[in-house]
Amino acid sequence: MIVILKPDHNEKQLESLVEWLNAKGIEVYPSTGTMHTVLGLIGDTSVIDVSLIMALDIVEDVKRIQEPYKNVNRKFHPLDTVVEISEGVKIGGGNLTLIAGPCSVESEEQICEVAQRVKESGATIMRGGAFKPRTSPYAFQGLRDEGIRLLLKAREITGLPIVTEIMDADQLPLFDEVDMIQVGARNMQNFELLKRLGAIDKPILLKRGLCATYEELLMSAEYIMAGGNNRIVLCERGIRTYETYTRNTLDIAAIPVLKTLTHLPVIVDPSHATGRSALVAPLSLASVAAGADGLIIEVHNDPTHALCDGAQSLTPQAFDELAKTLFEMEQFLHSRKANK
Ligand code: PEP
Ligand code: MN
Repeated sequence: MIVILKPDHNEKQLESLVEWLNAKGIEVYPSTGTMHTVLGLIGDTSVIDVSLIMALDIVEDVKRIQEPYKNVNRKFHPLDTVVEISEGVKIGGGNLTLIAGPCSVESEEQICEVAQRVKESGATIMRGGAFKPRTSPYAFQGLRDEGIRLLLKAREITGLPIVTEIMDADQLPLFDEVDMIQVGARNMQNFELLKRLGAIDKPILLKRGLCATYEELLMSAEYIMAGGNNRIVLCERGIRTYETYTRNTLDIAAIPVLKTLTHLPVIVDPSHATGRSALVAPLSLASVAAGADGLIIEVHNDPTHALCDGAQSLTPQAFDELAKTLFEMEQFLHSRKANK
């Protein structure tokens, strides 16, 4: 349930409302926007008589909400959440953030070269898998601890913060220095892992599961937020459909839908969504047009020899051209908004 207060509400009356709700076992989370203060009520709100609250002078409206997620719900938190990844590097709040790098970290030369190139093109966060969730146990599994060490080396050289995937809560100590932790599609509903990530103070990139609904994705984010970590970025990375031409099917509608349902930033991974490098540019443009806060794109210095996902990786040159177009499009969307 949420209670919307009148803009000029009296603080004393607000205090007594909060005390009254607390006495009924309800926790109250105020969120102050430019126009209104909204109270998020958490607990068994079925014990509350809505008409009693409605009758209070300070209350403008009361809404019972049906959604099972509360912390991530935009109704509780009307303003967009902006997640700071490292000093000055943010996701959300109207700017387009580009995350780029190889599927997997393969060597020091590879990760450092790609990181430098994507930085020159305007990426502000680099990606690179150290622990790789592969369908086949015989496929390259990632450099693991050594991969994280190499990512940190590339960060030292380029200054770019890093995002890399965790596959098990036991790996957490290895992620101490990592700027943002990715929960991959296959782990979206690893609830024990989500609980552990809820207890740390680090940004989390939560990717949508291959067959997950919007509500399931939001409930997974809710697990993290319920633990106290609200630094979450959602990622639409394509879902399983009957189409086999592409690796997955990019669900463009997920962007505006999620941005309506939640205050968390939403980014798109057009690389895993399509599995084909030729489709990365058009789907990146479509994602930005649909309101994505950022993109995570696989870039490899030598895609044909990549140890993982070469077919969907852009060359640094192709990424550079795409980034230019994307920033032009961002400018266009900003100026259109400003002229409205
Ligand atoms: C990845 O980003 O390297 C990855 C494996 O992504 P996903 O979990 O979306 O398949
Ligand atoms: Mn990949």
